[in-house]
Amino acid sequence: MIPFEEAYEIVMGSVVRTGNETISFTDSPGRILAEGVTSDIDMPPFDKASMDGFACRKQEIHNELEIIETIPAGKKPGKKPGRNECSRIMTGAAIPEGADCVIIVEEAEILPSGKVRFTGNYSKDNIAFKGEDVKKGDLLLEPWRQIKPQDIAIMASAGKTTVSVSKMPAVAVISSGNEIVEPQFLPGESQIRNSNSWQLMAQVERAGAKGRYYGIARDDQDETFSMVCRAIEENDVVIITGGVSMGDFDFIPGVLEKAGVKLLFTRVAVQPGKPTTFGIHENAGIFGLPGNPVSVFMMFEMLVRPFISAMMNYNWRPFSSVLPLKEDFSRKASDRMAIIPVKMTGDGFVQSVEYHGSAHITALAGADGIVTVPVGVKKLEKGTLLTFTQI
Ligand code: AMP
Ligand code: MG
Repeated sequence: MIPFEEAYEIVMGSVVRTGNETISFTDSPGRILAEGVTSDIDMPPFDKASMDGFACRKQEIHNELEIIETIPAGKKPGKKPGRNECSRIMTGAAIPEGADCVIIVEEAEILPSGKVRFTGNYSKDNIAFKGEDVKKGDLLLEPWRQIKPQDIAIMASAGKTTVSVSKMPAVAVISSGNEIVEPQFLPGESQIRNSNSWQLMAQVERAGAKGRYYGIARDDQDETFSMVCRAIEENDVVIITGGVSMGDFDFIPGVLEKAGVKLLFTRVAVQPGKPTTFGIHENAGIFGLPGNPVSVFMMFEMLVRPFISAMMNYNWRPFSSVLPLKEDFSRKASDRMAIIPVKMTGDGFVQSVEYHGSAHITALAGADGIVTVPVGVKKLEKGTLLTFTQI
């Protein structure tokens, strides 16, 4: 059994980069940006009205102004407001030459003569100036970030319609066990619904990679062997759940070795997640995760997700914050690092959620994140500061 930190180092030391590809920016949300994005224009691209109103020269605002044209957004102004003149202007329209101020509609009165009178004492410019947000050539997005919807708006504004991203690792997902049935079936006696595969497929997608589901391997060495070999051949990462504990049918590590996988560890000092196994093959990195769904979830987030992210040259860091513990914590054994599902209380504490162990998948629905308790620590007093990590 090795400490979690060592397991993490081994996993991260086995990363192989996937390379890049160019795709349409509309397909890029969730992908890892592999280039800096710069703007091909100034933003705003021209001086534009930031309010609806009347464009004029600032020195004229206390005079009665004659309206010389109306400028809707998208139309090039045709006239130049001069002495005692203004142009009616809409938000987003180009400011006519000569004008340096927009009197807002709310502070303007149309006189019976048809002229405009300013009813305020002082007016802001109400102009968004050319290039005030971005200058042509400015770096707008640094590379190696996971692309968010707000980044798409930036790419669209910058004319960046194709973008270089890291190739998604192909990640095979396999479950194992004679008792496992797919979710659409009502489990018979001694059967368990397959939650791991579908949880993993969702986690892989959230990590920005491509999940490929291979099905449930029966507790049969030959069947498992051929499924594992095919998955290794066709993918960059293989995740198999179940069959790594100490039971009579827990032969996954042996099958992996037979398939040419070099096992780098088979036990990690974490709770849950102890039987977590990791190995490398010339074609793929292979994770053998425990069968219990909470263990699978945690080990994916703590080992597989950083591995997949690093394959895309993405230094993924979950949101974390240092918060005090709401209640005393104690445990009997301390030979492993504990991973505790917790919620953030409204008053700024972390509190453990009701949790019966690694099969208690519904406990995670009430958890906002996790805290870890190091090896050797049995008790934590109320108020102890812990690093909360969002899950
Ligand atoms: P194992 O590591 O194969 O001994 O499995 C440990 C526990 O996890 C057993 O109670 C299994 O029934 C359960 N388990 C294994 N695979 C899955 C799965 N795909 N979905 C839900 N539970 C599972
Ligand atoms: Mg099993």
